[in-house]
Amino acid sequence: MRFLLLMVLAVCAGMNQSAATAQEFPSPKLVHLLKDKIDSDYERLDKLYKHLHAHPELALQEEKTAARLAQELRAAGLEVTEKVGGFGVVGLIQNGDGPVVMIRADMDGLPIIENTGLAYASTTRVRNEQGREVGVMHACGHDVNMTSLVGTARLLCGMKDQWRGTLLFIGQPAEETGAGARLMLQDGLFRRFPKPHFAFALHCDGRFPHGTVNFRSGQMQANVDSMDILVRGKGGHGAAPHTTIDPVVLAARIILDLQTLTSRERDPTDAAVVTVGSIQGGTKHNIIPDEVHLQLTIRTTNDKTRKEVLEGIVRIAKAAAQGARAADPIIKHDAGSYTPALVNEPELTQKTVALFRKTLGADKVIERPMSMGGEDFSQFVRAGVTGFYFHLGCVTPERFEESKKGGKPLPPTHSDGFYPVPEPTIKTGVLAMSLAVLDVLDHK
Ligand SMILES: [Zn+2]
Ligand SMILES: [Zn+2]
Repeated sequence: MRFLLLMVLAVCAGMNQSAATAQEFPSPKLVHLLKDKIDSDYERLDKLYKHLHAHPELALQEEKTAARLAQELRAAGLEVTEKVGGFGVVGLIQNGDGPVVMIRADMDGLPIIENTGLAYASTTRVRNEQGREVGVMHACGHDVNMTSLVGTARLLCGMKDQWRGTLLFIGQPAEETGAGARLMLQDGLFRRFPKPHFAFALHCDGRFPHGTVNFRSGQMQANVDSMDILVRGKGGHGAAPHTTIDPVVLAARIILDLQTLTSRERDPTDAAVVTVGSIQGGTKHNIIPDEVHLQLTIRTTNDKTRKEVLEGIVRIAKAAAQGARAADPIIKHDAGSYTPALVNEPELTQKTVALFRKTLGADKVIERPMSMGGEDFSQFVRAGVTGFYFHLGCVTPERFEESKKGGKPLPPTHSDGFYPVPEPTIKTGVLAMSLAVLDVLDHK
């Protein structure tokens, strides 16, 4: 039903008009022109990329990154508004009647000490919320995503005579924590600025060679929820457990019981994940503590399963506590931390993927299985925008082939050795994104 509604919107937005020109779009001449322009702009983009890579900031602290992005988007010719939902940046260009298209890049880095050995590696150190010094690194490739955004803005603003419509270029904070898209929407992104008919985002992907893109039509990523469970017991001497209610043993039981939620209660074809990523309790060998704190991430693929798994966690934790004669655990489910499943609208996906196959090469466009990862671009789709999100390969083909043959594994995103090869990756990103956007705009 929602897809049907989205398609009505898409048709209203002129998708049919551009579909009528799909056969001749893009002409070889246009692709050639775009590639030439990207080549001649690359030196500037390379400097920007290396600056962003060397100066990462954590989620909700993206002050300097946002200021630099705003400056770049302004230089491209956009009308820029800063501090939309924290450090969110919105660059707007209105160029006659036509669809409104949004392009989004995420801006935050991760609390990791970089270990790539690159000349432009980050040496940044900050204090995290707990006051501990941590490194900061663009270990998820958001520097690639931002540079591709700026490259696309510069390219499309420089060829306004070729298209009609409105473009919104978004620098989004805090993708890693799942808060940024929600904050921008809550701050009126779609009320203060024209609401898009279409939204696109690309994301750097360290599992594939540069020059490639990968995608999935329909559901691409999972619902993400976070929960905290404070397991309450009664502390005492480690040598006299009978005088205590041991919350460490109770927490261990809860963790194991939770695994039955996915393995015994769910239909095995309906994927769900319950991971306890953190367990904290106690101070030394011979003291039984009063409490143990568990932190969970929960991944599901649909609303019904989500509801049942979240309820199941509460039921299992309470039942285990009752079994141990302990007080009910204190369970916090931060509804604000929820990131809905990412769904690529099938018709827009099909149209854009056909375009990619034609322009990047059929063998460079890879359909992927669904992942249980999360991505808050989904918030814009949930807010009623027809969206397509795709991944951009970023490692050398040689490293990719070697890893496939069982050689040195590729460092995954979120690891200290992860690094994209900037030039071919960003050039492919700008070309793919510019074509995707032009394809849904009205052509002159
Ligand atoms: Zn990311
Ligand atoms: Zn990430």
